[in-house]
Amino acid sequence: MADVSATLEKLKKLDAERKTLLEATKMGIVEAIESQISSLKDLGFDYQLVESGSRGATGRRERKAGGRVCSVCHRSGHNSRTCPDK
Ligand SMILES: [Zn+2]
Repeated sequence: MADVSATLEKLKKLDAERKTLLEATKMGIVEAIESQISSLKDLGFDYQLVESGSRGATGRRERKAGGRVCSVCHRSGHNSRTCPDK
């Protein structure tokens, strides 16, 4: 009986060690990904554009490219809501 409980203790310790190792591996992977993302950012790659969709970036790009064109009269500088030709 003493042998069995000793073996069980060993197994418990092994299991705990394995869990610790798993946690360490997970943390290591997360850290590796985070460092890769930051190095990508250093290279000028905007991962947020991919991550959160392109809504904000696209809006900014449209404004930079000369603004939206009115859908009523197709002129820039205002939109269909404020169109004087409406
Ligand atoms: Zn207009």
